[in-house]
Amino acid sequence: MKDLKYPFLDLGTVNAPYADELKEAAIRVIDSGRYIGGQEVEAFERELAAHTGSVYAVGVSNGLDALRLIFRAYIELGRLAPGDEVIVPANTYIASVLAVTDCGLTPVFVEPDPSTLNLDTSLIEQSISPRTKAILTVHLYGRPCYDELMAEAASRHGLIIVEDNAQAIGADASWPSPRQTTRTGSLGDAAAFSFYPTKNVGAVGDAGAVTTSDADLANAVRALANYGSDRRYHNIYQGFNCRLDPIQAAFLRVKLNHVAEETQRRRALAAVYDTEITNPAVLKPRKDMPDGSVWHQYVVRSDSRDELQAYLTDNGVGTDIHYAVPPHRQPCYGRYASLYLPLTDMLADQVLSLPVSACTSIEDAHSIARIINRFKND
Ligand SMILES: *Cc1c(COP(=O)(O)O)cnc(C)c1O
Repeated sequence: MKDLKYPFLDLGTVNAPYADELKEAAIRVIDSGRYIGGQEVEAFERELAAHTGSVYAVGVSNGLDALRLIFRAYIELGRLAPGDEVIVPANTYIASVLAVTDCGLTPVFVEPDPSTLNLDTSLIEQSISPRTKAILTVHLYGRPCYDELMAEAASRHGLIIVEDNAQAIGADASWPSPRQTTRTGSLGDAAAFSFYPTKNVGAVGDAGAVTTSDADLANAVRALANYGSDRRYHNIYQGFNCRLDPIQAAFLRVKLNHVAEETQRRRALAAVYDTEITNPAVLKPRKDMPDGSVWHQYVVRSDSRDELQAYLTDNGVGTDIHYAVPPHRQPCYGRYASLYLPLTDMLADQVLSLPVSACTSIEDAHSIARIINRFKND
């Protein structure tokens, strides 16, 4: 792609301010002689649990594995069984759904609230059947998806709540969890984090984590991620190798330490877009008070999305689409292709993500808003 004046995202630019700290972290790990597990991983797990308000954190290989390990652990503990139904948002990244089906669980797709793009929690109750055992809530684009309706449905029907927190580290919901926390990652029974390089806290490669305040679940996830062994050469599960590398843990300690600045910058950019984009052809994300979003993406909607994207590219503004094809429309999920999910299908045709990373200055956001306001008004 040609060089744009306002790039959507450039990871080198994102990590440049931390380059010295990242290099020190790498050298520390290389010199330590400890390349699997050890104190970098343990320190990161402690720091992540503290940041999240959960009791336990287990570093793992990536976000998809974090989700798979959670569902697998619940199956091993006898709290879920293959064939059980899991309520999932129809409007999500496919990894959320892959984890459910990989464990032999049945996704029940629930339509989004078009004003938040998150699962419409008023539809949860009617989506519950006698086979429903869990809700997978996805805090999509960094906006918490947890409220009174979800908490009450889960407690009334004894459902496990699993959070896909891949996009929302550091976000706060406006409804407290039963443990009186509001931070995403501590709201439900277990949460999956991704530290894929483009996420708000990005590793230098793949990485992920599971948080929970359930000791049995934490132990099961840790064992499953390490060949299913609870101690050396003693395998209680048929497990996997899904561990977090110490070099990524060391990088992540640096990045986690700066997440508050990252969130503040994203919120400042979102605030500029919120106040300055006034083009009626471009629908902005709903403003919530209080708004705990960490703006992993700033997603606008337009009936002329493709035209808007081409116009922005022509004017030097990089954008992206999250996501052009919803999970139930993917070739691998032909069995869900006939589901009637009109809002999800509509959003896939309308959504457009604007630049909201460290590559974008406040000045840039003002310019981008002005360019957007000229769309179809020239
Ligand atoms: C990124 C992402 C994942 C998967 O994380 P990986 O680390 O890439 O495996 C899962 N769910 C959501 C919502 C994501 O954005």
